[in-house]
Amino acid sequence: MSDKRVAIITGATGGIGLEVAKRLGKDGYTVILNGISHDTGEKVTAELVAAGMDAHYAGFDVTDEAAVTENIVKIGEKYGKIDTLVNNAGGLGGRSRFEEMTTEFYRNVMALNLDSVFFASRAAIPFLKKGEHPSIINYTSNAAWNAGGPGAGIYGTSKAGVHAITRALAKDLAEYKIRVNAVSPGTIDTPFHKQIKSTKPEVFASWANNIMLGRLGQPEDVAGVVSFLASKDAAFITAETIQIGGGQALGI
Ligand code: NAD
Repeated sequence: MSDKRVAIITGATGGIGLEVAKRLGKDGYTVILNGISHDTGEKVTAELVAAGMDAHYAGFDVTDEAAVTENIVKIGEKYGKIDTLVNNAGGLGGRSRFEEMTTEFYRNVMALNLDSVFFASRAAIPFLKKGEHPSIINYTSNAAWNAGGPGAGIYGTSKAGVHAITRALAKDLAEYKIRVNAVSPGTIDTPFHKQIKSTKPEVFASWANNIMLGRLGQPEDVAGVVSFLASKDAAFITAETIQIGGGQALGI
């Protein structure tokens, strides 16, 4: 069994996930970066290795049940355990109003944000049981509460599911001392917002005016909290959701 802590971070080839991988890598974990952009994945993983981290790339689609199971079992068997699973992969998957929403769109958004958490968590449980103060960290959103912006209703619906599955997993896994928590990022400046950033950059920048702390979030703001939740310092925290939004949820 590996004597280092082992963390899998899904969707880690960019945005918040990459920053989480860097942070956990600096914390001394063996980090497994997952993604679907394989060239980018190999490149960023090599950069982490060059910076002295124990980093590895595992390319698979988090919505593909068989691929998720196969890869997570392979990682678990290689290291003899998993200490931290960060279910970071997620996204809007586009925007659609309900009247014209296809069933395919609905299923894709639910699969990316919610099925992925189920598939990865289920596969990781046997290996988390062998981990050291093990935990799962999920990602919900303000959209889970306010039902999402224009055309993002299913994104909000899927994130509300993530909120509930976080609590349900926490209850189910408490027996094994596996903690399950979520972060709820506010507006974090990542490729998640690439469409509005490229079409209406002034609108994107103006969102900072509605945030108590007067700025948009950066991936580092989330990575520090994920690092804390995975650490022994958070050993008595489970079924919790931490908002990382500079007070955004309350407005100004
Ligand atoms: P991002 O779009 O920058 O990054 C998402 C990553 O997931 C990308 O690297 C992408 O390649 C990967 N990915 C997409 N589909 C995948 C799949 N099927 N399998 C594996 N990987 C896949 O987004 P982000 O801002 O870094 O978001 C990370 C998480 O935070 C998401 O769950 C998102 O819903 C949540 N979130 C983000 C914000 C924000 O403002 N950025 C706000 C609230 C919640």
